[in-house]
Amino acid sequence: MRCARGIASLRRVEHPSSDPKPTRRERSPRRNLYFESRYRKLRRGLPQTIFWCPTCKGDRRRREGCEPCQGFGKLTKESVQELIGRRMLPAFGARTGRFHGAGREDIDVLMLGKGRPFVFEVVGARNPNVDLEALRKEIEQRAEGAIELAPFVPVRKDRVAYWKQTNFEKVYRAEVALLAEPASLDAAVAFEGKVTQRTPQRVAHRRADLDREREVKVLSVERIGDLRLGLRMQCQHGTYVKEFVSGDEGRTTPSLASLLGVEARCDLLDVEEILTPLSTFADGV
Ligand SMILES: [Zn+2]
Repeated sequence: MRCARGIASLRRVEHPSSDPKPTRRERSPRRNLYFESRYRKLRRGLPQTIFWCPTCKGDRRRREGCEPCQGFGKLTKESVQELIGRRMLPAFGARTGRFHGAGREDIDVLMLGKGRPFVFEVVGARNPNVDLEALRKEIEQRAEGAIELAPFVPVRKDRVAYWKQTNFEKVYRAEVALLAEPASLDAAVAFEGKVTQRTPQRVAHRRADLDREREVKVLSVERIGDLRLGLRMQCQHGTYVKEFVSGDEGRTTPSLASLLGVEARCDLLDVEEILTPLSTFADGV
């Protein structure tokens, strides 16, 4: 044994560069890394994850000549996931990433406040040594104001399940268009209680048609213009907020429209805050 080892080390000394390619063992192994942060979404029309074309599903062969996406494979150029991934993946020497959000907002809804928690999974990272704060700043800079990120914190894989399984109340703000001036805002201002929502027409094609109850508390209602209201409310997770405003042709009761006695439509909607417990985030955000 001693003799064999001696010869091996001697060979290495004599031919230090005989094999310039690193061996399999010397190359750092690929592994999956998990980073938790929160995103603020400040541009409307930006989906959280890649918005694959529903017709061709982005498939390289099928998307050629696909009309809905015009061969692009996606229905939007960017998403929160892509704005992060296109900087993050090269930095870690990885090709693929997975975005695990704590729920999601509609594409046309801004995500404000402290932002929405998420875990970004870097699949097959070759280089784990990345300056996370420099990376965060670079992502924000290249996103040109579309997103802002809280600092990244390396986390364990089980944080993905935590955010997927835990639900939180949210504070929304909405701009509401009315068909007529309501006589009084009092009933709407005072509303706090259960709302029964039948699956909205706009999602009925992909979700089961059923009734469910959600707690809604109106925080404030104010007139912000002719036939326009500013509404703030706190909602249980899973509340269909746009339908709470309009009533969805009687499928949501009560609704802002029924409380005001006039037809109402949600024109703009933002998530003002996701009410997560303070202790859930590593840096105390
Ligand atoms: Zn397509």
